[in-house]
Amino acid sequence: MKQYRLLIGGEQVDAASGETFDAVNPTTGETWATHALAAAEDVDRAVRAASHAFESEAWRGLSPTRRGRLLLRLADLIAERAEEIAKVEVADNGKLYKEMLAQLRVIPDWLYYFGGLADKVEGRVIPLDRTSVLNYTLREPLGVIGIIIPWNSPVLLTMYSLAPALAAGNTVVVKPSEHASASVLETLGLAAEAGFPPGVINVVSGESEAGEALVEHPGVVKISFTGSEKTGARIASRAGARLGQVTLELGGKSPNIVFPDAALDAAEAGVLAGIFAAGGQSCVAGSRALFHREIYDELLERIRLRAGAVVLGNPMDESTQMGPIANIPQLARVEEMVDAARAGGARIVAGGTRAAVEAFPQGLWYDPTILDGIGNEAEIAQDEVFGPVLTVLPFETEEEAIAIANDTRFGLASGVWTRDLKRAHRVARALKAGTVWLNTYRAITFNSPFGGVKESGFGRINGAEAIEGYLQTKSVWCELSDDVSDPFVMKV
Ligand code: NAD
Repeated sequence: MKQYRLLIGGEQVDAASGETFDAVNPTTGETWATHALAAAEDVDRAVRAASHAFESEAWRGLSPTRRGRLLLRLADLIAERAEEIAKVEVADNGKLYKEMLAQLRVIPDWLYYFGGLADKVEGRVIPLDRTSVLNYTLREPLGVIGIIIPWNSPVLLTMYSLAPALAAGNTVVVKPSEHASASVLETLGLAAEAGFPPGVINVVSGESEAGEALVEHPGVVKISFTGSEKTGARIASRAGARLGQVTLELGGKSPNIVFPDAALDAAEAGVLAGIFAAGGQSCVAGSRALFHREIYDELLERIRLRAGAVVLGNPMDESTQMGPIANIPQLARVEEMVDAARAGGARIVAGGTRAAVEAFPQGLWYDPTILDGIGNEAEIAQDEVFGPVLTVLPFETEEEAIAIANDTRFGLASGVWTRDLKRAHRVARALKAGTVWLNTYRAITFNSPFGGVKESGFGRINGAEAIEGYLQTKSVWCELSDDVSDPFVMKV
């Protein structure tokens, strides 16, 4: 059995307490690895290492171009080991190997993009009213960044924050999820080989206690958090109490709206991709499908048939379409929410129960589930399930579709299916969400900004905007004359 340790100051170390926790494979139910269990003392050690590295000549003294090169080298090393790391992710979270491998193949692009951006961060010269003054800005890193991530796409989600943070010249302490830490340790364990000075990248595996210690540590300037809105709110208030900064990438209840003029085959595929890909364990899951009444029955029947045919099974098999639910608490949440919806009057169109896969009796299986017959105000339509559960809602007019779509406390993503160009862009403007996909769904890449509005969070990852979140501006004033103006009057 593999034994993973913490990565602190360039070394792999045990937790100070010597305690460990198990990594359980959700497909087999077996423990396949152990992790060092970090507590506050270990987090403190990691933050100190990161602070020391931040001030070190080895990191600070690097030109942005050379710093960027380190990101490129790490990208190359990850590309070489993509298959190995993807297998580790599957063992940890049960997502499909083909999906994890596809992610690992593009993850280097994040490092290439932000590595290339490192030496394109420029200040400005500002033409002041007082012409004797040269005023310019310096764009500087913040310091130590704490990165806390969930279990659903561990390495990809780490990169969303880590790549721009490092490109800007910060150092990082990463706290992966207790349900999926191994792939992050494997990936960031390559930092030394890539040439990163010790302490620039640290990883503390552990539970919420380790996350809290990171959030409350005075040495951490900013927390970049990806996870549930409940934890995000707690982190924002805890960090706020010590005036720490936060960016939050939280959950969603994203609408996938199909108008009657849509290309129905494409819309059908898009609705499926939105909710059953990754077993719905995706922050951008299109968990509310809004169908126009004219096509409601036909499209519902189509997706009912497709849901019933989804192949559950070994996530390593090419033919598998849905793996298990990633962990026991998550499966319990899915069951509870569907049972409550049923009790509240929802009609179960498909699924609605645990599933069985003969070869994996201990696996955490749940049937692809479709519900309708309830309003948008129902809990199942308002709360994030984070599982393969789709709520379908009818609408009649464009205005009604927009109103239902926006009637949520979340605002992460949205999909619109129509062949009417004007309508597509009109609706895109009206939707309150960080991402709008027109005639596609679940598309994300390194150079297009991503993030939420409302309770889906704030701050943007990906795209050139992302690096701004890890920089601060200093204004430098240089008097070019021998100024002797009245010292008791402010220089304006
Ligand atoms: P979670 O909020 O339970 O945990 C996320 C991380 O926070 C874990 O590492 C956990 O150990 C840590 N944590 C828990 N309590 C903490 C505390 N009090 N202080 C500090 N850290 C703490 O989320 P999860 O169940 O792991 O992930 C699922 C959630 O993540 C869903 O809501 C999903 O929508 C969201 N998500 C969002 C995005 C995005 O980009 N917006 C991407 C993926 C997942």
